[in-house]
Amino acid sequence: MKFTQLRLAGFKSFVEPTELRIDPGLTGVIGPNGCGKSNLLEALRWVMGATSAKSLRGDGMEDVIFAGTDARPSRNFAEVVLSVDNADKLAPARFNDADTLDVTRRITRGAGSAYKINGEEVRAKDVQLLFMDAGTGANSPALVRQGQISELIASKPQNRRRVLEEAAGVSGLRARRHEAELRLKGAETNLDRLQEVIDEIT
Ligand code: ATP
Repeated sequence: MKFTQLRLAGFKSFVEPTELRIDPGLTGVIGPNGCGKSNLLEALRWVMGATSAKSLRGDGMEDVIFAGTDARPSRNFAEVVLSVDNADKLAPARFNDADTLDVTRRITRGAGSAYKINGEEVRAKDVQLLFMDAGTGANSPALVRQGQISELIASKPQNRRRVLEEAAGVSGLRARRHEAELRLKGAETNLDRLQEVIDEIT
């Protein structure tokens, strides 16, 4: 899965619409301390469905919205669009005809996040699974946060195992199993209710 472009508007320090082109080969981002290099990596993790505000250095998810400065008012929403080359046709069937996938996440104050793939509204889970199935995603060990290495060294064996599972590409399957288990539980509850109704009328 190749990322080709990241577009940001109102995300953290990127108040103006900003485009980062990701050409084949190595892309480097350089700049002075505090210019927003880490914010770019966070935008990438955020658009892939990150759920932990803490891992994005915030207290709540709305902290990713431009908070304003002395000279500029805060914004009401933040939006990030990640363009993905779909030449290897890894997308779910309904999007698989497209050669490029534009994955959008938008957060509005007081209204939470909304996701789209090529303009069509999808669930957070659809976006998370799209990237997990391609061996990447918001929690991919390929995206290394500041301080993450020392966190990993000090972490519990279960947490280290999670990192290995991400690297092995099984986390998408785990998420699907969890979803299937929830559906099974729902079906069992419905069956129990049905049995109660049958018992009542017989
Ligand atoms: P370093 O090289 O020191 O690691 P960096 O280039 O990675 O720095 P970032 O950490 O990405 O810089 O950016 C930090 C800047 O982003 C700070 O100036 C901070 O005020 C700004 N920032 C973070 N969140 C917001 C927000 N919600 N609204 C406005 N500015 C924000």
